[in-house]
Amino acid sequence: MIVAVASGKGGTGKTTVAASLAWVWDRPVAAVDLDVEEPNLHLFLKPDIAGRETAAMEVPVADESKCTYCRACADLCQFKAITVLGSVLLTFPEMCHGCGGCLAVCPEKALSPGSRELGEVSWGTADGRIGFFMGRLRVGEAMSPPLMRAVTAKIAQSADAAAADIIIDAPPGTSCPAIAAVLPSDLILLVTEPTPFGFHDFRLAHEAFRPLQKPMAAVINRAGLGERSIYDYCRSADIPILAEIPFDRRIAEAYSHGRIVAAALPELNSLFAGLIPRLRELARAAAVREATLHA
Ligand code: SF4
Ligand code: SF4
Repeated sequence: MIVAVASGKGGTGKTTVAASLAWVWDRPVAAVDLDVEEPNLHLFLKPDIAGRETAAMEVPVADESKCTYCRACADLCQFKAITVLGSVLLTFPEMCHGCGGCLAVCPEKALSPGSRELGEVSWGTADGRIGFFMGRLRVGEAMSPPLMRAVTAKIAQSADAAAADIIIDAPPGTSCPAIAAVLPSDLILLVTEPTPFGFHDFRLAHEAFRPLQKPMAAVINRAGLGERSIYDYCRSADIPILAEIPFDRRIAEAYSHGRIVAAALPELNSLFAGLIPRLRELARAAAVREATLHA
């Protein structure tokens, strides 16, 4: 089972939930930080890093001596990453999405594959039992999804991780990286807080993820702040609230010291452990529904 822990906005406790879930998980599990712009799951799980590698994507390199300025490449590129101005060919590697289309259409073979560094993929083990994978985007690089794909490709190469359940710490928000992070999941667990901002961004996230037709559930963090809109919305949208994490100063203290909440506060251990069977049940029900629809 792959669970994506997501949130409409940062600071709701998404990483707290992802780290605690991984900590209490009752089967082999891999924790994956796909918040590649600002990874911080490692600060809590403190994994032993076994390996790192640079991730890169293919971008075109032009040999202008072969170019006839026919514009086929520029007309094809949807991202304006290659252009022809009279008898000048310009490439903009930072805008390239690496689709390879321009290389395929160039009749003169004036373009060849080069590479642009995206960032780093690292992997290891936390507490001797939790697989760990993380991507960290290069400073100045804007494109997260290709690096996220490099992280998931690394997981696929690991026999242990491929056999394990996976918990993804997704980037906050509703942009491309957030969607890309939840795409491989069987189920999306949305973490929010009962505040007007929390509710607003939760609703945006729900609307953004809904077309993916994956089961969604919610965890309310800092429960007891008084705002009830999130509860009404979940009821009307049929989003089960699986747990409420109390508004407790000790949780903030554990977080600020880089401690896993489920480990630091034993009374919350059962709260996170209690999520596991409910997540499995939701994923199972969705799989049955899917199978029935396609029978
Ligand atoms: S590889 Fe694709 S995105 Fe990049 S410049 Fe060529 S056509 Fe554009
Ligand atoms: S398709 Fe090839 S020949 Fe035509 S403008 Fe692009 S690089 Fe030059």
